[in-house]
Amino acid sequence: MINPLQAAIIKASNIMNNSNNLEQNRQHVLKRIQQAKQPNQPITLIAVSKTFPSEDIRTLYQHGQHHFGENYIQEWQQKCQQLGDCKEIIWHIIGNIQSNKSRPVAEHAHWVHTIDRIKLAQRLNDQRPDNLPALNVLIEINISNEPNKHGIHPNNMLELAQQIAQLPKLKLKGLMCVASADAEQQILQQQFQTMHQLLKQLQQTVPTADTLSMGMSHDLETAIQSGANMVRIGSAVFGYRNYAK
Ligand SMILES: *Cc1c(COP(=O)(O)O)cnc(C)c1O
Repeated sequence: MINPLQAAIIKASNIMNNSNNLEQNRQHVLKRIQQAKQPNQPITLIAVSKTFPSEDIRTLYQHGQHHFGENYIQEWQQKCQQLGDCKEIIWHIIGNIQSNKSRPVAEHAHWVHTIDRIKLAQRLNDQRPDNLPALNVLIEINISNEPNKHGIHPNNMLELAQQIAQLPKLKLKGLMCVASADAEQQILQQQFQTMHQLLKQLQQTVPTADTLSMGMSHDLETAIQSGANMVRIGSAVFGYRNYAK
């Protein structure tokens, strides 16, 4: 049997190993990004921390990671409080937002990637505090056209964009998608390239829209080669997710 002191030492060394792993994982992802991108193609890495504790976020923050992505509003609110001293964290909400959960997002998030209806945009605009800069938003496109997926059909992009452009507390920055999880390489590429075309189309109406949020742990190279400049990486940084916890 181990005594309490031994147990404490084991726990501490696990935490240390874990924090080393996190930063190693992040460095590995940064290398993958570096290898996939053009020399003058700036890429923002968002570390997607859903289901992982605040301590993991803090560890990476201390290594210089500032952009974090969260999916579930309640879980994120808790982390926001626990990490209130990490003033330079930039929070990206990348999960579906029910309209009745929009207030904390409007008050504390920096980016929302999942705008798929004008009602949500209006609420976020109305609830955004006056002392904060405009909330950066992306329109989510259902690029694989799967009925069970969030996001709008590409044909509806311009109409929603024009409506969002009327809202002073939102800044429409571009587009986001989640590509098919199990598609062949060629289909994946087609989806990402269509997104790139859609962004160009959007830029004719909204010239400041410069962001293409696409690419996850398994497809970041394909996304970057098709023009992504924001990638959302979860498991390759934090490890396997246990949703049952
Ligand atoms: C969870 C999630 C990610 C990260 O996925 P990984 O495959 O773990 O990298 C990215 N984007 C969205 C919208 C997610 O929900």
